[in-house]
Amino acid sequence: MPPLLIPADVHAAVVAHARAAAPLECCGVLAGSTDGRVLLHFPIRNDLASPTEYLTNARDLLAASKAVRAAGAEVLAFYHSHPASAPVPSAKDVAGNHWGDSVVHLIVGLAGPEPDVRAWHITLDGCVPAEWVLIDK
Ligand SMILES: [Zn+2]
Repeated sequence: MPPLLIPADVHAAVVAHARAAAPLECCGVLAGSTDGRVLLHFPIRNDLASPTEYLTNARDLLAASKAVRAAGAEVLAFYHSHPASAPVPSAKDVAGNHWGDSVVHLIVGLAGPEPDVRAWHITLDGCVPAEWVLIDK
């Protein structure tokens, strides 16, 4: 899997979404081309409205999936925030991942002075850091 290439404006939008949702977790989808370049950003409602877990709203996810398909893009990553803890997958994140290793999970950690964005491959065997690169556009 190629590294996820995240344009600066998408990165800023994801961090802004996480900050706006805090102290609750936010979630969303990033889509783009098969070479890993993110082109589209879809905020998704967190049905759990919780500070420690999230559940992607099914209606939002369906709308995002349709838009991704219409754009000829692919879902590359899911993102969510950890408003008060490190951006490391929780046990619930592992149990709730139904996508296997086909997508990257981006977690925005807001516990420190600066947002800490990390990417992960989540599998039942464990979590492995995923490569991502900030690009200009
Ligand atoms: Zn989490």
